[in-house]
Amino acid sequence: MKILLIDDEPFVLKLQARQLANLGYADVSVCESAREALARIAADPLCYELVITDLQMPEMDGVEFVRELGRMEFCGGVVLVSGEDSRVLQTAERLAKAHKLNVLGALQKPVQRGSLETVLQGVVERIATRARPGRERTADELREAIEAGHLVNHYQPKVAIGSSDIVGIETLVRWMHPTDGLIYPDRFIQVAEDNGLIDALTRSVLTMALRQAREWEDAGMHLHVAVNISMDNLGALEFPDFVAGAAKEAGVAPASLVLEVTESRLMKNVLVPLDILTRLRLKRVSLSIDDFGTGHSSLKQLRDIPFDELKIDGGFVHGAGQDAGLAAIFEASLSMAKHLGMRVVAEGVEDRADWDFLAKTGCDVAQGYFICKPQKAADLPGWIAAWKARGGPG
Ligand code: C2E
Ligand code: MG
Ligand code: MG
Repeated sequence: MKILLIDDEPFVLKLQARQLANLGYADVSVCESAREALARIAADPLCYELVITDLQMPEMDGVEFVRELGRMEFCGGVVLVSGEDSRVLQTAERLAKAHKLNVLGALQKPVQRGSLETVLQGVVERIATRARPGRERTADELREAIEAGHLVNHYQPKVAIGSSDIVGIETLVRWMHPTDGLIYPDRFIQVAEDNGLIDALTRSVLTMALRQAREWEDAGMHLHVAVNISMDNLGALEFPDFVAGAAKEAGVAPASLVLEVTESRLMKNVLVPLDILTRLRLKRVSLSIDDFGTGHSSLKQLRDIPFDELKIDGGFVHGAGQDAGLAAIFEASLSMAKHLGMRVVAEGVEDRADWDFLAKTGCDVAQGYFICKPQKAADLPGWIAAWKARGGPG
């Protein structure tokens, strides 16, 4: 792997080059200025697989450098290094990601051998499994897939933090493409919303989820089933009647159904969604505000809509135990939701540290890869049995 190191301090360059050499990376070039680094990359864009850059540099700083890399559509990995406080570093990392750069990590100065090693391991793995994100799908393809029944539901458990009880399951749609394999919703939900297909999609997902809930119920598993809906589903006044009818047909009590709402665009007309959501609550369906804390789920919604569950976005959960800034936002959201009498779900629980952090906060429910990845309905009873036998994450 060819690596380019950028830092205005020759001493730091020497030190980091030595650290890299000790880790077995000998093909390292160094640069004392970002401008020079840009010139080298421009001359041969595919030359470096990894760029490690300082943020604080006199002539051109790391933020400008990253902006230029983005403009050049640099496709190697980028690691940011800085002695600034961790929030500045995190913001720079987010910025670099927004420039569509392949950001592999942000390291605090002085760089520790262990953290450098972890980041580099990630680079090697990513190069090995370089998965293309996949193109967005067309509306026609999606329409055909819905009609052909190629959409399938996966399910991810939600568990109570105190008792480890499994309280519910979230339905996450996937597209089983006959030739391209499994396609994730970030590739097609927006397409559905933009092309008037979201109602058909939601109806198909909801109907399958309710049928599945009935099967679990019959097998003695009493689980709340959550389904994601888009704000675009809330344009037709008869939506609550459709939901109630589908639940009745499947033989599932509306109180066992949770609808998770994300606002993907600004609503022009707020009256209709409010009418629909209020009637859903009157029918005993639970309403959850999804991705709370991101731009799409706001305090305004919280004020206006009778939600009974709040899901704190994974971006404020994963790593909150080690980051005072994240923890502050998490705890403020939790406290606000509690004052409003809502149940709180933490999304994106990825490791033991996240789980332990939550256990100390009074958050009700956790969801994430640390507990269980979304999976096929058929695999769930086995997972449930194993989880119960272990009495939790173990
Ligand atoms: P969401 O509702 O916030 O769902 C959580 C997403 O985070 C899921 O991604 C899930 O697989 C992923 N996830 C779960 N645990 C972890 C974790 O520990 N770490 C990380 N990094 N991610 C985790 P997925 O399945 O790709 O879905 C993405 C989004 O697509 C969903 O976000 C939801 O907004 C939307 N979506 C999914 N299914 C439907 C649907 O049937 N209808 C609508 N309208 N939107 C859907
Ligand atoms: Mg959701
Ligand atoms: Mg979410």
